[in-house]
Amino acid sequence: MAKIGINIATGSLQQQEMIVGIDLGTTNSLVAIIHPESKKPVALKEHDGNTLVPSIIHFDESGIISVGELAKKFLITEPQNTIFSIKRLLGKSYNDIKKRSTFFTYKIIDDNTESLVKIQVGSKFYSPIELSSYILKELKTRAEHILKTPVKKAVITVPAYFNDAQRQATRDAGKLAGLDVLRIVNEPTAASLAYGLGMKKDEIKTVAVYDLGGGTFDISILRITNGIFEVLSTNGDTYLGGDDFDQTIIKFWMQQTGITEEELSMHKNILQEFRLKAEEAKKHLSLNNLYEGKVANDNIIITRSEFEKLAEPLVEKTITCCKNAMSDAGLSFNEIDEVIMVGGSTRIPLVKEKISKLFGRKVHDELNPDEVVALGAAVQADILAGNNKDFLLLDITPLSLGIETMGGLMDVLVPRNSKIPSKVGRQYTTQKDGQSGIRISVFQGERDLVRDNRKLAEFNLSGIPPMPAGLPKVEVSFLINADGILTVKAKELRSGVEQSIEVKPQYGLTDEEVEKMLMDSIKHAIEDIATRALVESRTEAMQLIDTTEKFMQKNKASLTEDELRITQSAIDDLKIVIQSSDKDIIHQKTEALNEISRPYAERVLDVAISKAMSGKNIKDAI
Ligand code: ADP
Ligand code: MG
Repeated sequence: MAKIGINIATGSLQQQEMIVGIDLGTTNSLVAIIHPESKKPVALKEHDGNTLVPSIIHFDESGIISVGELAKKFLITEPQNTIFSIKRLLGKSYNDIKKRSTFFTYKIIDDNTESLVKIQVGSKFYSPIELSSYILKELKTRAEHILKTPVKKAVITVPAYFNDAQRQATRDAGKLAGLDVLRIVNEPTAASLAYGLGMKKDEIKTVAVYDLGGGTFDISILRITNGIFEVLSTNGDTYLGGDDFDQTIIKFWMQQTGITEEELSMHKNILQEFRLKAEEAKKHLSLNNLYEGKVANDNIIITRSEFEKLAEPLVEKTITCCKNAMSDAGLSFNEIDEVIMVGGSTRIPLVKEKISKLFGRKVHDELNPDEVVALGAAVQADILAGNNKDFLLLDITPLSLGIETMGGLMDVLVPRNSKIPSKVGRQYTTQKDGQSGIRISVFQGERDLVRDNRKLAEFNLSGIPPMPAGLPKVEVSFLINADGILTVKAKELRSGVEQSIEVKPQYGLTDEEVEKMLMDSIKHAIEDIATRALVESRTEAMQLIDTTEKFMQKNKASLTEDELRITQSAIDDLKIVIQSSDKDIIHQKTEALNEISRPYAERVLDVAISKAMSGKNIKDAI
């Protein structure tokens, strides 16, 4: 399935690298790719036809790990060794989950309540990150088996409400599984992408994503503007999902058969059978009107309308959450353009019906609701792979963007993590009289000196008509459009001379490089602040010398011999210290010269001088 090329030089086969989309779910996980021929996203299928891998991990006595359907068999019979719902524990401390600790049938360590939770299986301890990595590793292995090509890069989805710790934990789990996680994407964003929403430029849409999975319910309201996904609000219930529907069916059958709570807790295998049959019945009733079966020699039966009566209060709960999300977003239901159904439990006809009615429109259910998030992750992966050339989804700038100013300093115009599209402008001026051009050098990075950052582009704004230093008003503007393309424009406002250049800010930077640049900026923060202060004091000193010398030449007549001598000696003093790396002494001598020259300036009132003394200068054009 993967594209294969032949290297003409060596004659060897070259396989194009595959980036997969992964939905790491609370209940089920799966992998999707863009089909190389149809160019449509598809979920990867094993021989058994299953796309979903239950997010369950089982450890046998000798420590052998199984994941998926195999592990699911042990859920009830070996609760201590069978880990489910690990996603709920990602990035959490014991304090965060202690109210729900009875939900987990395996052992969660509670001695250190502040730090991240650990899970004990047998005599070993595991972090949720490690356990999640087992699921991801299983998905990776499956994908490689199906695609017959190594899979190293992935996009992984997370709920929109995941905080930084949870997102980082997901990334780390990917890394541990041997995956290069190119992007963490919000599940509702992925679902929208799977339906092609947000893929058109100039598109503005408000979308509700209703996600009812196995154990959780999320409603997210998104605003899509020119390819930017903004989460307006999220709401939900982290303990409401398909499992609760199953529970209501089990209760119903217990009454039907007379089997009691005590019997079930004594005979775990019967409970296990009940659970499996309840889920089977629920799914069957999504398409049929009647389910009949047997549990431990007892006949069990349930009709669709009986099930709907049981399900109704649960669905009502989700509707309350939807209303809250809408009011948080400040929207009324008729302002929603599209409603997307996500999660296996939205296959229940009652759910679809009630939600269509609530939003007053037909809901999107054309794609499999339990696959749609992974499909969207594959769309995102394809965009990152550069296969979708007209579209580069970039929601924030990973690193700061700025230009070089005097002394090689980085002047940041767009700070990192700015939303895109974005537009900023700042005014600069010239340093020398009659300067006809200035050079604009564009850099990316967090360090104070441009030489430690990455140069993206450089151009000259030339043809500035002769003016005294400090008079030209050069406006430099950065515009990042929805495609992530940066356009830098420089315009001299008095004369109207302008020049611009296009840059792709993220081009060629991997996540690791971005990370390294950020780490470097933290590591060198103190030294950078010192360097910046030194450079700034030198620049200030040089400017003052320059303007004072010019002033003296021009206004010799209005100054006394004494004044000229004192000023010259202050200039000489400053010139000596300027090369030292002691910013304080430079500052002191600058102040001394300033003290002397300030009254002259006031006397002659030269606009150009005061202009040049304030405001930033960009270095000269070559
Ligand atoms: P998650 O996002 O929590 O990992 P999924 O989206 O895969 O989970 O949803 C799993 C839930 O969907 C399970 O509770 C399962 O029983 C339920 N489900 C799957 N198919 C159907 C169906 N046909 N009818 C009703 N519920 C279904
Ligand atoms: Mg899900």
